[in-house]
Amino acid sequence: MNEKKLASFRLKLNAIRADLIGDVGGNFQSSQKDLNEHMADLVDEAAQSYSRQLMLSLGEQELKRLQLVESALEKMDQGQYGHCSECKNLIPVARLEVVPFTEHCVECLHSIEEKGQPDQHR
Ligand SMILES: [Zn+2]
Repeated sequence: MNEKKLASFRLKLNAIRADLIGDVGGNFQSSQKDLNEHMADLVDEAAQSYSRQLMLSLGEQELKRLQLVESALEKMDQGQYGHCSECKNLIPVARLEVVPFTEHCVECLHSIEEKGQPDQHR
Protein backbone atom coordinates (compact mmCIF):
# COMPACT_ATOMS: atom_id res chain seq x y z
CA MET A 1 0.00 0.00 0.00
CA ASN A 2 1.45 3.39 -0.88
CA GLU A 3 1.86 6.15 1.65
CA LYS A 4 -0.86 8.30 0.24
CA LYS A 5 -3.34 5.47 0.60
CA LEU A 6 -2.09 4.73 4.08
CA ALA A 7 -2.46 8.37 5.07
CA SER A 8 -6.03 8.40 3.85
CA PHE A 9 -6.82 5.34 5.95
CA ARG A 10 -5.20 6.98 8.94
CA LEU A 11 -7.45 9.98 8.45
CA LYS A 12 -10.47 7.72 8.23
CA LEU A 13 -9.50 5.87 11.38
CA ASN A 14 -8.84 9.10 13.22
CA ALA A 15 -12.21 10.41 12.13
CA ILE A 16 -13.98 7.26 13.32
CA ARG A 17 -12.07 7.44 16.58
CA ALA A 18 -12.85 11.11 17.12
CA ASP A 19 -16.45 10.35 16.31
CA LEU A 20 -16.64 7.56 18.88
CA ILE A 21 -14.83 9.45 21.58
CA GLY A 22 -16.67 12.66 20.84
CA ASP A 23 -15.62 15.67 22.87
CA VAL A 24 -14.62 13.68 25.88
CA GLY A 25 -11.27 12.05 25.51
CA GLY A 26 -8.10 12.60 23.53
CA ASN A 27 -5.87 10.83 26.03
CA PHE A 28 -7.75 7.68 25.53
CA GLN A 29 -4.70 5.46 25.53
CA SER A 30 -1.41 6.61 26.91
CA SER A 31 0.37 4.44 24.36
CA GLN A 32 -1.17 6.63 21.69
CA LYS A 33 0.64 9.75 22.86
CA ASP A 34 1.91 10.85 19.48
CA LEU A 35 -1.44 10.25 17.96
CA ASN A 36 -3.11 12.27 20.67
CA GLU A 37 -0.83 15.17 19.95
CA HIS A 38 -1.78 14.79 16.35
CA MET A 39 -5.42 14.64 17.35
CA ALA A 40 -5.22 17.82 19.39
CA ASP A 41 -6.76 20.01 16.72
CA LEU A 42 -9.53 17.54 16.18
CA VAL A 43 -10.74 17.07 19.72
CA ASP A 44 -9.65 20.38 21.31
CA GLU A 45 -9.35 21.30 24.97
CA ALA A 46 -12.18 19.07 26.09
CA ALA A 47 -9.91 16.18 25.23
CA GLN A 48 -7.88 16.48 28.43
CA SER A 49 -10.33 14.79 30.72
CA TYR A 50 -10.64 11.21 29.67
CA SER A 51 -12.15 9.14 32.46
CA ARG A 52 -13.98 5.92 33.10
CA GLN A 53 -17.04 7.92 32.30
CA LEU A 54 -16.15 7.62 28.67
CA MET A 55 -15.96 3.86 28.80
CA LEU A 56 -19.31 3.79 30.50
CA SER A 57 -20.91 6.19 28.10
CA LEU A 58 -19.94 4.09 25.11
CA GLY A 59 -22.12 1.16 24.21
CA GLU A 60 -20.62 -2.29 23.89
CA GLN A 61 -20.59 -2.16 20.10
CA GLU A 62 -18.97 1.27 20.11
CA LEU A 63 -16.37 0.16 22.60
CA LYS A 64 -15.47 -2.85 20.47
CA ARG A 65 -15.25 -0.68 17.42
CA LEU A 66 -13.07 1.80 19.26
CA GLN A 67 -10.73 -1.01 20.30
CA LEU A 68 -10.48 -2.17 16.70
CA VAL A 69 -9.75 1.37 15.56
CA GLU A 70 -7.08 1.74 18.25
CA SER A 71 -5.40 -1.50 17.29
CA ALA A 72 -5.57 -0.63 13.60
CA LEU A 73 -3.81 2.65 14.33
CA GLU A 74 -1.24 0.80 16.42
CA LYS A 75 -0.63 -1.60 13.56
CA MET A 76 -0.25 1.35 11.26
CA ASP A 77 2.49 2.76 13.47
CA GLN A 78 4.24 -0.60 13.30
CA GLY A 79 3.89 -0.78 9.53
CA GLN A 80 1.56 -3.75 9.86
CA TYR A 81 -1.63 -2.08 8.76
CA GLY A 82 -3.67 -3.97 6.18
CA HIS A 83 -2.35 -7.39 7.14
CA CYS A 84 -4.79 -9.98 8.38
CA SER A 85 -4.00 -10.73 12.01
CA GLU A 86 -4.85 -14.37 11.40
CA CYS A 87 -3.15 -15.43 8.17
CA LYS A 88 -0.90 -12.35 7.78
CA ASN A 89 -1.99 -11.95 4.19
CA LEU A 90 -2.78 -8.53 2.85
CA ILE A 91 -6.38 -7.50 3.27
CA PRO A 92 -7.75 -6.18 -0.04
CA VAL A 93 -7.85 -2.39 -0.12
CA ALA A 94 -11.47 -2.55 -1.29
CA ARG A 95 -12.35 -4.23 1.98
CA LEU A 96 -10.39 -1.71 4.00
CA GLU A 97 -12.27 1.05 2.21
CA VAL A 98 -15.49 -0.37 3.63
CA VAL A 99 -14.18 -1.37 7.06
CA PRO A 100 -10.87 0.45 7.64
CA PHE A 101 -10.50 -1.03 11.12
CA THR A 102 -11.00 -4.65 10.13
CA GLU A 103 -8.42 -7.09 11.50
CA HIS A 104 -9.15 -10.00 9.22
CA CYS A 105 -9.37 -10.82 5.57
CA VAL A 106 -12.71 -12.14 4.34
CA GLU A 107 -11.55 -15.77 4.40
CA CYS A 108 -10.46 -15.66 8.02
CA LEU A 109 -13.54 -13.71 9.03
CA HIS A 110 -15.66 -16.47 7.55
CA SER A 111 -13.77 -19.23 9.30
CA ILE A 112 -14.00 -17.31 12.57
CA GLU A 113 -17.74 -16.98 12.07
CA GLU A 114 -18.01 -20.67 11.36
CA LYS A 115 -16.34 -21.40 14.66
CA GLY A 116 -19.27 -19.63 16.24
CA GLN A 117 -17.53 -16.58 17.61
CA PRO A 118 -19.52 -13.38 17.40
CA ASP A 119 -18.65 -11.08 14.54
CA GLN A 120 -16.91 -8.12 16.11
CA HIS A 121 -15.71 -6.64 12.92
CA ARG A 122 -18.54 -4.59 11.61
ZN1 LIG B 1 -6.70 -13.91 6.91
